[in-house]
Amino acid sequence: MRNVDIRTSRYDHVPHRVVVVGGGIAGLYFTYRLLSAAREVEVVLVDPKDYHEFIVGVPMAVAGLVEFKDLLFPFRQLTKAKFVKARVAAIDERCARPAEGSGPICGDYLVLAPGALHIGSAQYWSVEGSAAIAQAAAGAKAVRFIVNELTPVAGFQELAYAIKSRWPEKEVSIHVVYIGEDYRSFMEVGKRWAQEIGLEMSDEPPPWRPDELYIKVPAARPHPLAAGLEVDPTTFETQYERVYLIGDSSLLKLGLPPIGWGALWQAATLAKAIAKELESGVFEVEAESWLAEGDKEKFLQWMVYRMTSGTPVIHLKGLYDLWRGQVWRFLSA
Ligand SMILES: Cc1cc2nc3c(=O)[nH]c(=O)nc-3n(C[C@H](O)[C@H](O)[C@H](O)COP(=O)(O)OP(=O)(O)OC[C@H]3O[C@@H](n4cnc5c(N)ncnc54)[C@H](O)[C@@H]3O)c2cc1C
Repeated sequence: MRNVDIRTSRYDHVPHRVVVVGGGIAGLYFTYRLLSAAREVEVVLVDPKDYHEFIVGVPMAVAGLVEFKDLLFPFRQLTKAKFVKARVAAIDERCARPAEGSGPICGDYLVLAPGALHIGSAQYWSVEGSAAIAQAAAGAKAVRFIVNELTPVAGFQELAYAIKSRWPEKEVSIHVVYIGEDYRSFMEVGKRWAQEIGLEMSDEPPPWRPDELYIKVPAARPHPLAAGLEVDPTTFETQYERVYLIGDSSLLKLGLPPIGWGALWQAATLAKAIAKELESGVFEVEAESWLAEGDKEKFLQWMVYRMTSGTPVIHLKGLYDLWRGQVWRFLSA
């Protein structure tokens, strides 16, 4: 808990300014929750892309529930937050320094949400790339996901389910050659559904055949902007005052799998605490009991529950409808 009057900050101006780096689900949901809860606050959202990409929804598009283009939300439509199109190259106190173009973008708070760095072919981490995968899958006799990373990029199970749901006649399989223990626990739960829909799971993949599509799942690592940052597991504050790290990079730094449910939870928790500080001068996080007790095992169980209960494609459709109808509508009204 912190109890300071932030108006004494050297970046003193009204309304208070919050700079958010990265407009993925963590950055955008944080913005939505903060602007819904606090008055007298201005949010500047910085992202190098023109669109927010609703990546969690990619499997839905692969399954044919929505069009790929429906997963793109143009940042220029934002009315409640100010959008700056830029790639942030470095941070300096509470300032984000773009790689080129404008000067530093500074605020009373700096919230870093740049996602993770994806090592390997991270094609399905974009709406365009995943549309190409869906097209390739349509023409292949079998689709095989090969996992051989300690922390693979999330979503391969969901993609495999989506492909199998759309083309039940295709052979779809996941081959886990190597994976971290935390991730293995997620996969154990997923195995049940896999069996139900006829999706194969095994260790070694079969020998390559020309009419089959092999997708090597890339690894996730903390983003370069997060290099050297330490993250408090309760407040997500870094060693720099009022500089926070949320989303995939934050989860990785905390030793947790980089998944969307974790990013949404961090975004909501931080927005609530900052809104409270802006209103009352007190920054207070209502820590979940397992966090307060420092019990990482329970934390992981909770994450597994949140992730797996939200994984089936039809649940994602509910999340997507909320995202479009509530989050985006509010921010672009
Ligand atoms: C196919 C697929 C399915 C998935 N399904 C699920 C699921 O069912 N459940 C679940 O919990 N999770 C799922 N995930 C994982 C989930 O999508 C991620 O955990 C989530 O997107 C992380 O959000 P984020 O905001 O941290 O990062 P991202 O979504 O990666 O967003 C990061 C943003 O930061 C921007 N950025 C990057 N670098 C910079 C920079 N230098 N300066 C400024 N901006 C920058 C990027 O342009 C991007 O807009 C899935 C992932 C995939 C790929």
